[in-house]
Amino acid sequence: MITPRVQEAAARLSEVPAYLYDLPALDEHVASVRRALGPTELYYAVKANPDPELLRVLAGHVDGFEVSSAGEHAHVTGLLPGVPVALGGPGKTDAELRLPHHRLHVESPNELRRLLAAGVEADVLLRLNPDLPVEGAALTMSGPFGMDEDGVAECLPLFGDRVRLCGLHAHLASGLEAGQLLGLARALLDNPYEEVNLGGGMAVSYERPESRFDWAAYGAGLAELGRGRRLRIEPGRALTVYCGYYVTKVVDVKRVRGRAYAVLLGGTHHLRTPATKGHDQPFAVLPTGKGQAVGEPVTLVGQLCTPKDIFARNIETSLRVGDTVVFAMAGAYAWNISHHDFLMHPKPAFRHLRA
Ligand SMILES: *Cc1c(COP(=O)(O)O)cnc(C)c1O
Repeated sequence: MITPRVQEAAARLSEVPAYLYDLPALDEHVASVRRALGPTELYYAVKANPDPELLRVLAGHVDGFEVSSAGEHAHVTGLLPGVPVALGGPGKTDAELRLPHHRLHVESPNELRRLLAAGVEADVLLRLNPDLPVEGAALTMSGPFGMDEDGVAECLPLFGDRVRLCGLHAHLASGLEAGQLLGLARALLDNPYEEVNLGGGMAVSYERPESRFDWAAYGAGLAELGRGRRLRIEPGRALTVYCGYYVTKVVDVKRVRGRAYAVLLGGTHHLRTPATKGHDQPFAVLPTGKGQAVGEPVTLVGQLCTPKDIFARNIETSLRVGDTVVFAMAGAYAWNISHHDFLMHPKPAFRHLRA
């Protein structure tokens, strides 16, 4: 799960907690995803992780970036001038509707009317929120996202020369396997639109990090379904999650009412993912400490004064004060979704492994 190169780099860090990003691993992973997709276009959903160094590596492989705010738009276009961006997100302001884009994902008939009133040119995909069963998803995007078939019908007569309809956009759920996503794609492509963005949401398993999304099957399936049409996907998590590590050290080991705890520097204000998703963050221990190791199920917690500050529960492992703990799968929805300022502990360092 954690390569010797990452383990060596983690053990050598002069400052922890730190985020460590394996850029060559990201490069290789995204290159293989790109190859598997064939004719299908690949955009990266920037909200998963906007780290500039990651974006530069991704830019070597993807066809564009999906951004969901003026902030992400400025960040990406400032870093990578001229790169195609698809601008989406609910509740766009008038200023956001005026931003330059390759595609604009319109979320409602009223948003389209405001776009027309802004008097700008735009190439639009209508975000459809279809009534399709999404079983086994980690998170379904029902509710306020996009519009139903009535909303789409309301939009159609409004298009003209300056605001052009290019096709549909849909992002239905997160945590879906290739077969499930292909089933949804088949249903979504039952329409006359020439261009369809099928969104992201490819499954990532924190329980079994070695089991990866089947990009080969998904790419081949989409190539088959998409014949003659322009298909695009915009994954986030499944592209960057594996290249990121959160590295920290054990400051205290103790037993309270029969349960063993390891208290680590930092906490879920740096790596919120296990708290938001309720999973055990996968990790490895590097024996940099001294003294007697605890060899029993241990709960790994951080420095926050809240019982929710838990990285992993009751894990059979061996830990001592001073040991280095390397959490894997911290490259997406990790630092950038975390509540950094709670308790005012220092921010982590950021280090990038290069080729
Ligand atoms: C979050 C999001 C994505 C990326 O989802 P992942 O689960 O990270 O692949 C893609 N498209 C839209 C519209 C999103 O909101």
